[in-house]
Amino acid sequence: MHSAPEKIAQIAVDVPLSRHFDYLAPGIDQADIGRRALAPFGRRLVVGVIVGIAHEPADPSFQLKRVKEIFYDVPPLPPAVLKLARFCSEYYHYPLGQVLATLLPVRLRRTQPVGALTEARYVLTQAGRDTAADALPKRALVKQKLLAALHAAGSLTHSEITRLSPSASKAVQAFATAGWVSITQEPLTAAPRNHALPASLDAPTLNAEQQQALDALRAAPTGFSAWLLHGVTGSGKTEVYLHLIEDILARGGQILVLVPEINLTPQLEARFQARFPQTAIVSLHSNLNEGERLKHWLMAQQGAAQIVLGTRLAVFTPMPALQLIVVDEEHDGSFKQQDGMRYSARDVAVFRAREAAIPILLGSATPALESYHNALNGRYRLLTLRARAVTDAAPPAVRCIDLRREALMEGFSTPLISALKQRIKRGEQSLLFINRRGFAPVLMCGDCGWLAGCTRCSSRLVVHLKEQRLRCHHCGHEERLPRACPSCGNVDLAPVGQGTQRLEATLEKLIPEARILRVDRDSTRRKNSLPEMLEKVHAEEVDILVGTQMLAKGHDFPKLTLVGILNADGGLYSADFRASERLFAQLLQVAGRAGRASSGGEVLIQTAFPEHPLFAALKHGNYAEFAQTLLAEREQAGLPPYAYQAMLRAEASHLEAALKFLRRAAALAQPNAAITLYDPVPALMPRRAAMERAQLLVESHSRGALQQFLNAWLPQLENSTARTVRWALDVDPIDA
Ligand code: ADP
Ligand code: ZN
Ligand code: ZN
Repeated sequence: MHSAPEKIAQIAVDVPLSRHFDYLAPGIDQADIGRRALAPFGRRLVVGVIVGIAHEPADPSFQLKRVKEIFYDVPPLPPAVLKLARFCSEYYHYPLGQVLATLLPVRLRRTQPVGALTEARYVLTQAGRDTAADALPKRALVKQKLLAALHAAGSLTHSEITRLSPSASKAVQAFATAGWVSITQEPLTAAPRNHALPASLDAPTLNAEQQQALDALRAAPTGFSAWLLHGVTGSGKTEVYLHLIEDILARGGQILVLVPEINLTPQLEARFQARFPQTAIVSLHSNLNEGERLKHWLMAQQGAAQIVLGTRLAVFTPMPALQLIVVDEEHDGSFKQQDGMRYSARDVAVFRAREAAIPILLGSATPALESYHNALNGRYRLLTLRARAVTDAAPPAVRCIDLRREALMEGFSTPLISALKQRIKRGEQSLLFINRRGFAPVLMCGDCGWLAGCTRCSSRLVVHLKEQRLRCHHCGHEERLPRACPSCGNVDLAPVGQGTQRLEATLEKLIPEARILRVDRDSTRRKNSLPEMLEKVHAEEVDILVGTQMLAKGHDFPKLTLVGILNADGGLYSADFRASERLFAQLLQVAGRAGRASSGGEVLIQTAFPEHPLFAALKHGNYAEFAQTLLAEREQAGLPPYAYQAMLRAEASHLEAALKFLRRAAALAQPNAAITLYDPVPALMPRRAAMERAQLLVESHSRGALQQFLNAWLPQLENSTARTVRWALDVDPIDA
């Protein structure tokens, strides 16, 4: 008798090897592809994803082990997502098992299946019913809102409550303590109920440019198409997205909206939910706890959520009825993952749209030069919004304050200070932008010239005066602020330069009547502190905002009429060829903060280089002007987007070991004429977190040639791994 051949599961496990592994799996069938499975690996049990089924083992001499368990807790990853993972594995040269482990929610990476998912529901008690919402203190706005919503609905789930207001989950705990609500756990339902939300906001009538853009998008033939929507901040791009999304929702499609920062999602989610109150919208970002994240992911996968709003990683969300992808602020650097799988979520999104044969819409006030280039050469279709959507909003007047003529008082010029005072008198708000948190970037001894440096990095320690500490912003190292110079004993150590904390302190002295709010990573560390701060700005409890690029985008402050830019000069002449592109994008975005008000906004830039072309383009508010200049420079220098790059990065405890690894790698390479292999060099920041870093740049005028070269080269590196060197490949790197 002949027994049927054993079935073999091909499993991609989370190990740094670029192949899958065979396991005996008698009961398996095609429908199990995409499921997670528990498999013995060495002496461990690991979780992997079943990526294929075979009847013959790849290596017949190898004694196959049996799969331990297949998880039937959640539906399998759909073919579209597996395909996306394969693409990433090939394009970024990253092991498939690790790609899959990256894209799965944390709960699904564990060695146990997930249990039943439940969610807390808060049910109004008799005591709660007897309490009138307007009997609560007038200042407890969130509590009033929450209680009113509970009165209207009788009960609310945890996610409905967090959607009411970021601080509502704290408020409901207080209600529980007071006995106004009781808590029950219920199984996760498909669609969330939205009865706690306000009625639909009417969509404004689009202006002519918006309508033109929408018409073009609507007239697009079915199938893949890529669009770049270029419009200044406030020109109504989001409104165009919303109109297009409405079409898709009416057809029963799902929409994926990618945004660069977690901080922007609550605001955008509220705007989307207000426009589409009957639509299930879920967010996916790293501020969610594991349970919420899994729940949202599953809702998307089961089609229960129509709109997914998320950051970078959300590009991999399974969405069976996906019909449109929107990438907002597509130029933003945070779409690029800088460790592990170094992917660009924007580029992966374009690939996904092509595979799914659907349109993708990239939006930005300052498109990445790569995207703009694609639009100019016809690969993307360019849609432009020139005017601001709100007709009486005028673009801000931009003026440079020449630091060669103006003396600074602790970082402030006289014209800037008087402009700030004037705004306070008029009851208007101002924003001061500086790209450095902390008190001062350098601590120096005036006697011997000693500078406080990080022992683990090639960088200076930043003075955090309030906490009396020195901190490294690269590796997290910190120490007490020294009382005296460790080198000569001088007790007169001087903080040099400005950070957000110092600006705040100086302003308190110079303009004592000002109500100042500092917004940076230090002041917003606590969950929900940023939304609370923004609420304060809207309530006009703030005169001057001092902050980093956190404030640069997305937030709409109607009372803000002045933007001051301090210390931007570092980005003008940098060794990183992308620095001026980034600086321009940032300044254009920050300047836009002053333009949303109906009264004329003003932008004041303190600089020692007022004649730099970047400032001229900023004055004209003209992205295209500066983008063309930069593109011409890049073309002449043979830099991206006119060339394709990959960077082999290596780090070791000694620089020489890293360089030696790269030299050996270079020797193994067999570049043809289409490939330029540069010499291994130390990284721009050669030492970081006690590791010495070096890099080897590979460049080609053809993406295909570059990929071909990498395919032949990388397996040789895998075989020659030196134990003391950690290395990684970065395809399309954005950091020098
Ligand atoms: P962007 O996304 O380009 O920054 P938004 O879509 O957020 O611009 O629009 C900026 C502001 O203008 C928002 O408050 C929005 O509600 C409003 N707005 C947009 N389009 C219109 C329109 N056609 N009519 C009236 N107001 C509009
Ligand atoms: Zn000294
Ligand atoms: Zn450090």
